[in-house]
Amino acid sequence: MSKIAVLPGDGIGPEVCAEALKVLDVVAGKYGIPLEFEEAVIGGAAIDRYGVAMRDEDFARCEKCDAILLGAVGGPKWDDPEAKVRPEQALFKLRYGFKLYANLRPVKVNPALIDASPIRGEVLRGTDLVVVRELTGGLYFGKPSKIWKAPNGVIKGVDTMAYSEPEIERIAVTAFELAQTRRKKVTSVDKANVLSTSRLWRQTVAAVAKRYPDVEVGHMLVDNCSMQLIREPRQFDVIVTENMFGDILTDEASQLTGSMGLLPSASLGKGKFGMYEPIHGTAPDIAGKGIANPLAMILSAAMMLRLSLGQPEAAGAIEDAVQRVLDAGHRTADLGGKTSTSEMGDLVAGELR
Ligand code: NAD
Repeated sequence: MSKIAVLPGDGIGPEVCAEALKVLDVVAGKYGIPLEFEEAVIGGAAIDRYGVAMRDEDFARCEKCDAILLGAVGGPKWDDPEAKVRPEQALFKLRYGFKLYANLRPVKVNPALIDASPIRGEVLRGTDLVVVRELTGGLYFGKPSKIWKAPNGVIKGVDTMAYSEPEIERIAVTAFELAQTRRKKVTSVDKANVLSTSRLWRQTVAAVAKRYPDVEVGHMLVDNCSMQLIREPRQFDVIVTENMFGDILTDEASQLTGSMGLLPSASLGKGKFGMYEPIHGTAPDIAGKGIANPLAMILSAAMMLRLSLGQPEAAGAIEDAVQRVLDAGHRTADLGGKTSTSEMGDLVAGELR
């Protein structure tokens, strides 16, 4: 029996999670995979109910599971910059608590959706890359991180970017090992002309690269990479980068595929345990309307089956079902269509049956 922690979160999180569960139910039945779900409230919803973004007891329940399926957290209601309790604290607690330092974000242009992207089809065709984003270091975890009033009355803010050699080494290893299963090319993205952390990053990645002579390695500045992603996305196979650069570059890369609502992700540590979530947020502008695209969440569930539960066949079946639904022309609003969130889930589930 595999146990999955389900953490729907806020905004469209619960809406897209429901569709992933619908699809998982069908695939579990079809492939005889015994699945048990353990649901918990996190994010803004948990702040409203318990006063914290994630209770320790809910974290402990996740520890007893094989994987976590997470929607998204946050929204304008909990956006007070002065607040001590914030929805994202749940994400950081999970990422840091489970040592999920490697965030894998595949970006594959789907031929059926080539016209959904603002970029020209001839540039996009054949794009198939994975961003390996470092997830537990850098600016999002560095101390100090605060806003304060200096003695002269000027209000200041500070965040700290810190990386250690072992942190960089382990994420580089993830990237090179992944590249060995793909087109054997790693592009390491940094800002080595300006940042010390980036110079350490470049030097460490170059040292790790020597252990993988079959993999081609290149180094690129993040500003150039943001431009190259739009200009010639096919040049990339595996991109490895630090936390914030990866966060930003993958939102940009989502536009190659046509929508934020299409990109899944896996957050992994040393073992099989992983957390699976779409790269998008809670989309407050469309929450509650039943129009969110659930495919990123459904494809995240497929990644979970493949990477944490050892069920590649079931994972492939979900991905094929999604492809057939798109090939048949069904589109949610973000892709210019009229299919609702639950209809999209029904269509994928129907294809699987
Ligand atoms: P967002 O990803 O929520 O939305 C950006 C845009 O993409 C919006 O126009 C939205 O409607 C659209 N979009 C996103 N997902 C979609 C989907 N599945 N289907 C159709 N359209 C979709 O980013 P944002 O607006 O910057 O952030 C909103 C909230 O989400 C904030 O509170 C932010 O902190 C939070 N957030 C959470 C996570 C997370 O939980 N991992 C990640 C990013 C943002």
